[in-house]
Amino acid sequence: MRELKLAIVNAAERVKEALEKTGNPRIVITTHHKPDADALGSSLGLYKFLKKLGYFVTVISPTDYPHFLKWMPNEEKVFNFEYHPEKCKDFVNNAQIIFCLDFNSLKRINDLGDIVRESSAVKVMIDHHLEPEGFDDIRFWSSDASSTAELIYKFIVDFGGKDQVDQDIAACLYAGMVADTGSFRFDSVKPETHRIAADLIETGMEHSKIHNLLFDSYTANRWKFVGYVLSNKMEILEDLNTALIAISADELKEYNIKTGDTEGLVNYGLSIKGIEFATLIIDRTVLVKMSFRGKGKFPANKFAGEFFQGGGHFNAAGGQSSLTLEETVEKFKKSIVTYKEYLT
Ligand code: 5GP
Ligand code: MN
Repeated sequence: MRELKLAIVNAAERVKEALEKTGNPRIVITTHHKPDADALGSSLGLYKFLKKLGYFVTVISPTDYPHFLKWMPNEEKVFNFEYHPEKCKDFVNNAQIIFCLDFNSLKRINDLGDIVRESSAVKVMIDHHLEPEGFDDIRFWSSDASSTAELIYKFIVDFGGKDQVDQDIAACLYAGMVADTGSFRFDSVKPETHRIAADLIETGMEHSKIHNLLFDSYTANRWKFVGYVLSNKMEILEDLNTALIAISADELKEYNIKTGDTEGLVNYGLSIKGIEFATLIIDRTVLVKMSFRGKGKFPANKFAGEFFQGGGHFNAAGGQSSLTLEETVEKFKKSIVTYKEYLT
């Protein structure tokens, strides 16, 4: 607990010092690959705040992101590292300060990780995932925070910038909070989470519209895909109170599935009575990507780390495998037996 508090204290002050020391610093904001609403919302919320203070800021995403995030103010200014690797490299190499948001291990930003590691910039990590790797110079971190967006808001307040939070910043941060809290229903939600949401709504930002933009923006095709998956692809491992969905590359192609279309699919398994652990395995061709969601005492992050080179939160984690889809499913089934004590 002490450690956790210390990770927060003085961070805004230290960032202020770093900004002042470098005079007119070039700032890069980056976030994890395939950014979700929390990752992109945090990045664009902080981006607008720093821009309002007059700084030169660039947001770099390691990859593309879901279409239902493309409404976020200033989204069009984000540089995708996959499309502009050289330009992004230059931005990182010329930066004096790099904000790393919603991740705490450099492998979460793919090839950008080595460039950030080697950069001499001051690295500021703002994040809420367990077990930070330690690449950062300044840390604003709490695994108790329900979202990184919530931490960004606190950071702005600590920085003395509460008055600067306008509707654009509020919309980005609110989107991150809604997404990472399951619309304010997870255990991670505290009274303070609602107080921050209230502050954001008080800017005049349209919270109901944001919910629509995030959740009511799918194509009809995506729902046909969900129907197909639920009817044909969900496997229940009765003895282990576990639900499993494995999707092949051909199936993704057949339904024209794009980034973001598989978001939330893993949660259907967990909404079945008695299910304690749900897993989604997707063959993304370059690698097999896994999503893990647990209930109660199942340590999803530990399971992800032990068997699938991953991590995340206690109840929500992810990982990957370089085996084939079929081999990954086999490995999963063998691995999960060793965690039976947490499931029954
Ligand atoms: P998702 O299943 O939505 O991709 O990820 C769930 C959670 O686990 C997120 O908080 C995400 O940051 C984390 N996560 C997903 N994939 C990985 C991974 O490969 N490594 C680590 N360390 N965390 C991951
Ligand atoms: Mn997050």
